[in-house]
Amino acid sequence: MTSPATTDDPGPAAPGSVPPAVPAGDSATAPASARADIGFTPEPTLVHERVIDWFEVHARDLPWRAPECSPWGVMVSEVMLQQTPVVRVLPRWQDWMQRWPRPIDLAQAPTAEVLTAWDRLGYPRRALRLQAAAQAMVERHSGEVPDTAETLRELPGVGEYTAAAVACFAFNQPEVVVDTNIRRVHARAFTGHALPGKTYTSAQRRLAADLMPDTAPDAGATACAWNASAMELGALICTARAPQCEICPVADLCAWRAAGSPAPTEEQQTRGQGWAGTDRQVRGAIMAVLRTGDPVERDQLLEALPLPEASPEQRSRCLDSLIRDGLAAQTGALVSLPGA
Ligand code: SF4
Repeated sequence: MTSPATTDDPGPAAPGSVPPAVPAGDSATAPASARADIGFTPEPTLVHERVIDWFEVHARDLPWRAPECSPWGVMVSEVMLQQTPVVRVLPRWQDWMQRWPRPIDLAQAPTAEVLTAWDRLGYPRRALRLQAAAQAMVERHSGEVPDTAETLRELPGVGEYTAAAVACFAFNQPEVVVDTNIRRVHARAFTGHALPGKTYTSAQRRLAADLMPDTAPDAGATACAWNASAMELGALICTARAPQCEICPVADLCAWRAAGSPAPTEEQQTRGQGWAGTDRQVRGAIMAVLRTGDPVERDQLLEALPLPEASPEQRSRCLDSLIRDGLAAQTGALVSLPGA
C-alpha cells in the first residue's frame, strides 16, 4: 500500500463545472499548451523526483498512511478530510475506527450513534453517506471496499475525488487524484498562476493527467507517490495564503516564481466561506444540542440556541432542513437525532 495522502484544504476538486475525465498517463490527449502559458515549463520528471523525495522525509506521520491501515481506514479518512483539517479529523478518525473497524460495523450502527461520533467535523451528511456506502459494500461487495475507482463511484455518496483517492492510496491504482491542494501546486509550479481559481477547468484536468508519471515501469507506484506528495506539498508548503517558497523543493523550477510571483487576479481569487450568521452555524448549533442525547422539545431547543443574531425564522428553517436531510427527526413536539 502506498502512503495515503492527506488534505488540509481538500474536498472534491471540482466545485464548479466538471469536465470529462482523462485517464492517467494519457498525455496524447493533453495538449502541451495546458502547461506554462507564461513561457517557462518545468520538467515534470524532475518535479516528481524532488517532491517525492521531499515527501519521504517530511510527510506527516498519520495513521491512515501506515502500511497496516485498511482500505476502509483510508476511505474513512478521505471522507472526513473533505472540508475538515487534519488536526480535527485525527481524534475522530481514531475513535471511528475503534468503534467501526470494518464497513459492516458501521453499516449496522444506529444512525444516532453515527452522527454523535461524527461530533463537530461539520457537514454531517458525510456521516450518513459514509454509512450508506458501508451498507452498499455489505450488500454488493461482501463487506469489502471495492478496489477500483469505477466500482467505488457506484457506491452512494462517493464522488470522483473520493473514488480516485481511495483507489490510489488504498489499492495503488494510478488514478489522477486532484484536490484543491494539488490544483494549487499545479497552477503555481506549472502554469505560473498565483491560484487555480474556483472552478476545476477542462485545461486543469488535462494538465493533471498530463503531469502523471508514466505508469508502465512500476505499475503506477510513482504515480501514486506523486499524488500523495503533491497533495502534501500543497497542504504544508505551497499553501493558499503564504507559500513557503524558501524551503520548497521545487523553488528553482517553479513557474510562478520564475514569473516574479504575480498576485492573484480577481478571477483566481476565491472568497472564504463565512460562518457567523449563516445557516451552517445555526444547523451546527442545533446538531450540538441533539448530540447530547435525549429528545428535546422543539420550541425550547430553538429558543435556547446561543445565537442572539439568529431570528426565530432562521432557527426554524434550519431545523426543518436538518429533518429533511435525515440528520434530525421530530415526533410530536419532540426533536432528536434519527432513531434516538
Ligand atoms: S516555489 Fe513556492 S509557489 Fe512554487 S511550488 Fe514551491 S511553494 Fe509553491
